[in-house]
Amino acid sequence: LATIIDGKAIAQSIQRELKEEIEQITAAYGRVPGLAVVIVGERKDSQTYVRMKRKACAEVGIKSINVDLPENVSQAELLDTVLELNADPTVDGILVQLPLPKHVHEEMILNAISIEKDVDGFHPLNIGKLSMKGREPLFVPCTPKGCTELLVRSGITIAKKRAVVVGRSNIVGMPVAMLLIKLDATVTIVHSHTPNPESIVKEADIVIAAAGQAQLIKADWIKPGAVVIDVGTNPVSDSSKKLGYKIVGDVHFEEARKVAGWITPVPGGVGPMTIAMLLRNTVDSAKRTLSKSSA
Ligand code: NAD
Repeated sequence: LATIIDGKAIAQSIQRELKEEIEQITAAYGRVPGLAVVIVGERKDSQTYVRMKRKACAEVGIKSINVDLPENVSQAELLDTVLELNADPTVDGILVQLPLPKHVHEEMILNAISIEKDVDGFHPLNIGKLSMKGREPLFVPCTPKGCTELLVRSGITIAKKRAVVVGRSNIVGMPVAMLLIKLDATVTIVHSHTPNPESIVKEADIVIAAAGQAQLIKADWIKPGAVVIDVGTNPVSDSSKKLGYKIVGDVHFEEARKVAGWITPVPGGVGPMTIAMLLRNTVDSAKRTLSKSSA
């Protein structure tokens, strides 16, 4: 059976490291790192994510600046909020929880976030630099960075490996592929227009599954001994659960673990790492700002 990569435990050890770093930063500079978490509207899933992010901030000692705006907030008001946070010296990172309501121009809001505070790493300039050889973005998006951090901390070499990413979204598939290329893997992306994705996935030493399709990837898609990182979080109905559903990944875990060498569970794999990387990016941002202002 595959070795389980325990994302929850790895994320917890990262949070312990961050807590110590934050104590040192506070002692040296007299202020804690700050993360603004902006949520618009009442979407239940978004509220859960935001609550988890704010709680994680409190656990490590990051000040979370909470901005809760109503569903009908105007484009101009939301833009003003972002500009105020850009100008606020106690804010090191700005996170606008997506998706935004339809009447808001999401791209315009994300573009307005200062690239120096773009801890989600979604600003086109940060994404552009992630894609360019010899350039370093100020921030790498949290879920992709969580995936590669899981590999690194499990002692898995990325360079020279054949990686296949399933999915090409702006928030996971595309940036994780760019990051793996930067780390010297040979990368193929398969997506919903790819004929026979299973034959391509089967060539991978490292599979990153980010299709948002419950248990799409079966055991016979996987090369024996491969590393499987499952980003998917798909609700499927389950009457035995209190909420009436459970969350499964994009990989058929029970089957795949008989073939893979390493595998992440869902939940407890990539999810906790996404939050840990958000905290990491916020602390890095604070360090960059504080060391500049004291130079
Ligand atoms: P998305 O819907 O924006 O993109 C899905 C991608 O998968 C698309 O590029 C599509 O072309 C591709 N795809 C769909 N069906 C496919 C198929 N049958 N074969 C090959 N490719 C296929 O989704 P997303 O925002 O990238 O998220 C992907 C999954 O990851 C979702 O389940 C989401 O909930 C989850 N997610 C988890 C975290 C986390 O922290 N754990 C963070 C972000 C997203």
